[in-house]
Amino acid sequence: EAKTQGRNAYEFFAPSLSEGVMDRLKMESALRGAAARNELRVHYQPQVRLRDGSLLGVEALVRWEHPTLGLVSPGHFIPLAEEMGVIGEISAWVLHEACRQMRAWRDEAREVGCVAVNLSVQQLERDMLVGMVRDCLEEFDLPAQCLELEVTESLIMRAPEKAQLVLQKLKVMGVKISVDDFGTGYSSLSYLKRLPLDRLKIDRSFVQDIGLDANGEAIIRAIIGLGRSLGLETLAEGVEQQDQVRFLLKEGCDLAQGFLFSRPVPPNQLVFHWDCPPITSDAPSSR
Ligand code: C2E
Ligand code: MG
Ligand code: MG
Ligand code: MG
Repeated sequence: EAKTQGRNAYEFFAPSLSEGVMDRLKMESALRGAAARNELRVHYQPQVRLRDGSLLGVEALVRWEHPTLGLVSPGHFIPLAEEMGVIGEISAWVLHEACRQMRAWRDEAREVGCVAVNLSVQQLERDMLVGMVRDCLEEFDLPAQCLELEVTESLIMRAPEKAQLVLQKLKVMGVKISVDDFGTGYSSLSYLKRLPLDRLKIDRSFVQDIGLDANGEAIIRAIIGLGRSLGLETLAEGVEQQDQVRFLLKEGCDLAQGFLFSRPVPPNQLVFHWDCPPITSDAPSSR
């Protein structure tokens, strides 16, 4: 799956094949060492409690500041980095940077709560992850509770036993675990049951269906119900509209993330609370 995504992402840059091969070679050599050359940035997107508009935490989303291309989105270079085998270096950098930033916020007495970092395939499959997490928390003197790790269903299902083992160790340390893009992968519910999860993140594609597609809405209800029965929180991804918030609140989804609240922003531009939470900032719809 990563491979196909990589190719698609890459075609975005490359109109013709020959140019494409050149671009790809250039991209590859540029990406190698991007972390060492200090070209990576982390932007943070708020995660919000719908009931009162307060900040629950932030998700760390990596960007690559390419010298000529400008800010390259992770959808374009993460799949390439996976294929090239340099994702480990990038992931390690993001985790470290997110923890460093969390320390800075805490030192400024800013209540960010929790920072969520996306895990890559290779991090979960190799044995370094648990040690890396422990080292980062120690280096920045952070309680494990303020770190959350996001795994996708496909990541879990590639090696379910290994995933279970690694996530269990992280959970024992106190780190939180959430399933990203939930509902789009092929996870087996019997594996989900055994994993030490804290939260399900409802994929943006279902949130986009709200008000437009009854099947998408039914899936959201089912995920919220599943979460409730398993004792997990649910967070809706990609919330862009008030109507989506209304639907989510009505269905019992407590947490959300999306452009309605904020795009991912550099750390100095982070909004910490919404004086008027979007849900109360305009009149209820007369439907
Ligand atoms: P994701 O983890 O599911 O992150 C959410 C993506 O949805 C982000 O895209 C975010 O900007 C976008 N998004 C959030 N709210 C909205 C909305 O309301 N509308 C729309 N249209 N989009 C919204 P981004 O930053 O481009 O990241 C894309 C994906 O790249 C991420 O999906 C994640 O899978 C991956 N990624 C990002 N950073 C990292 C990283 O540090 N490590 C790894 N392994 N993957 C990463
Ligand atoms: Mg994520
Ligand atoms: Mg997601
Ligand atoms: Mg995604």
